[in-house]
Amino acid sequence: MTGFALGVDQEEWCGQLRALAAERLRPLAEKGEPGRVNRPLLAALGELGLLERVFASGALELCLLRESLAYGCTEAETALALQGLGAYPVLRAGSERQRERWLPGVRAGRTVAAFALSEPGAGSDAAALALAATADPAADGDGDGDGDGDGRGWRLSGEKCWISNAPEADFYTVFARTGEGPGAKGVSAFLVPADRPGLSGAALDMLSPHPIGSLTFDGVPVGPGDLLGEPGRGFRVAMDTLNLFRPSVGAFAVGMARAALDATLAYTADRTAFGGTLSDLQAVAHRVAEMATRTEAARLLVYAAAGAYDRGAGDVPRRAAMAKLLATETAQYVVDHAVQLHGAVALQRGHLLEHLYREVRAPRIYEGASEVQRTIIAKELYAGAAGAAGAAGMAGVTAR
Ligand SMILES: Cc1cc2nc3c(=O)[nH]c(=O)nc-3n(C[C@H](O)[C@H](O)[C@H](O)COP(=O)(O)OP(=O)(O)OC[C@H]3O[C@@H](n4cnc5c(N)ncnc54)[C@H](O)[C@@H]3O)c2cc1C
Repeated sequence: MTGFALGVDQEEWCGQLRALAAERLRPLAEKGEPGRVNRPLLAALGELGLLERVFASGALELCLLRESLAYGCTEAETALALQGLGAYPVLRAGSERQRERWLPGVRAGRTVAAFALSEPGAGSDAAALALAATADPAADGDGDGDGDGDGRGWRLSGEKCWISNAPEADFYTVFARTGEGPGAKGVSAFLVPADRPGLSGAALDMLSPHPIGSLTFDGVPVGPGDLLGEPGRGFRVAMDTLNLFRPSVGAFAVGMARAALDATLAYTADRTAFGGTLSDLQAVAHRVAEMATRTEAARLLVYAAAGAYDRGAGDVPRRAAMAKLLATETAQYVVDHAVQLHGAVALQRGHLLEHLYREVRAPRIYEGASEVQRTIIAKELYAGAAGAAGAAGMAGVTAR
């Protein structure tokens, strides 16, 4: 990407991805059971090398992937993103052994990953999580609890909820309280295989067909070999993962907005009313212009945030939060107006816009609700302003 435009190769790649999503992935998504993990769809994402790109590429490429897949098939987009969310902590903080054991299957779309942070009592305030990791030398994490490890195990007890891909995932990145300190300081990350004794789950039924469920941990044994990173450093692992994925949630939203916008352009140019087409009515044409302008602004903000992440810029948290906030709120606006400009046909079960109307709602809540993004932005702005004022004060002292 140069300045504010994608390169020719990137534009071409996005076009190929949109075509793949519509022609190859959409039919697989339609054969899946709503609200369940679609393994044939995941295997196709693996075969096409797209899951590999989630891990091998930077944030901008991840955004282009998510935006383009979302344009043609939201289910494929979501399946890809959830593999990334669940497995990125393993890539970033896992041991060589954990990476070798789990990541090839994730990349191939054979092994289903999940990211388990939220709890019934800890959503936006994730640092308040209560899932307890209680030290137990007999819990060595090899699953049989016979204590033949090195005597430094824990047992996990408590609940997780709203966990995408649960309870069907093959492993979970689980954030639990080992108690090195209060709040975020006392959280550790573990890789918990789904077949560990004491782990069970139940599916949850959502507005949009999303594979999601709750998990119950009843003394699940984990050992040092299951840790992702250092004990007490798990919250950092979760936040690093969310910093990468936040702009790409915005990209998902932009893909949906672009699909809704293109459908509206086509429909309003064709639908006849009052002796012309809907697009002849200025109120309609101006609304479409507004939808397009807002979508374009969101798209550019997402690319800018992703670019900042890839450059290792210092203002990633603020940019990522702005991109997610603007893109998800914009997509809601665009999809809602697209429904309005289509009239009744958009509300018929199975219509693209009926589908997008349900899909577009959740991204304003997950990975930090819009209000939480505003809090992050404001905090970063005031910290920056205080830093600048401090530096100006110092300069004044030096000058005197
Ligand atoms: C489809 C879907 C998939 C999900 N997948 C996962 C997953 O894979 N893994 C995982 O760990 N979690 C997942 N979640 C959970 C998600 O991260 C939480 O829903 C989210 O963090 C919000 O938490 P909550 O729902 O408990 O809402 P609460 O924290 O109870 O907040 C409710 C509302 O209060 C307001 N609010 C909250 N905090 C503030 C604030 N600081 N200032 C102002 N207003 C505020 C907001 O309007 C917010 O929507 C998923 C959720 C959904 C809907």
